[in-house]
Amino acid sequence: MALERWFRRNRPTRKEDDNAPAGLWLKCEACSAQIYRKDLVANAYVCPECGHHYRMPVEARIELLADAGSFEPWSGGIQAEDPLGFVDTQPYPERLEKNRQKHGRPDAIVTGGATLDGEAIGLVVMDFQFLGGSMGSVVGEEIARAAERSAQEGRALVAVTASGGARMQEGALSLMQMAKTTVALELLAERGLPFVSVLTDPTTGGVTASFATLGDVIYAEPGALISFAGPRVIQQTIKQDLPEGFQRSEFLLEKGMLDDVVSRKALKERLAVTIRLLRAGSVAREREKGVGRAAAL
Ligand SMILES: [Zn+2]
Repeated sequence: MALERWFRRNRPTRKEDDNAPAGLWLKCEACSAQIYRKDLVANAYVCPECGHHYRMPVEARIELLADAGSFEPWSGGIQAEDPLGFVDTQPYPERLEKNRQKHGRPDAIVTGGATLDGEAIGLVVMDFQFLGGSMGSVVGEEIARAAERSAQEGRALVAVTASGGARMQEGALSLMQMAKTTVALELLAERGLPFVSVLTDPTTGGVTASFATLGDVIYAEPGALISFAGPRVIQQTIKQDLPEGFQRSEFLLEKGMLDDVVSRKALKERLAVTIRLLRAGSVAREREKGVGRAAAL
């Protein structure tokens, strides 16, 4: 006990990153076990005691999914404007600049090409720490470009989502990203290329209502909040108590909104198998079409 207090007193205040709890030791928010922080990081930000999935930094997510050294960044070349001259507690350009400095990227998304267990993929990873992973014009454009490039290069697309929804500071332009991303995904479908969506905690609002739930296969991580409107808004609107586990992955799987809930450690392998199956299916369909055409002649 005394030792534990000593650790608590000496807890460093500077955070290495905002995605995981700081300090040498932390108390798991799900099972209250004392976990050594390095163990949590080494375990892909999953509690070694109870399996609770913590939010994960973008770079760690890329490392988890992309084969070593295979990731080649595509995003980062565009920056958001301030079309509305939006000011809340601070002007939007100032808020953006602070986030850019803090997180070292122009907006709430990273995209790139990689291989996943040898399969060529386009990879989209949203950054919830950057303005709540909100989808403004840059996030939408980067997703659309990643989908287009993947289609051109014959890659499957994997999107790992984490978002509070549309970016209110860009108003209607944010809402248009829902249509833009949806249309871009069509290119993959036309070429028979798989799009697999991985919903992580939290995936909400306009992201849930557009590309995130358009995957050929939709997976989610355990315990992730996945919703359009948040539970409090719904509760206040319908004036009823919500069922337990409402809007969590397991609940949505039961209701048929997801194809499966996959633990983080099994995710890469599951994605590889899924991509291979979808690709094989698409090749078989093309071959059947060819046979059908030959028979008609
Ligand atoms: Zn735990």
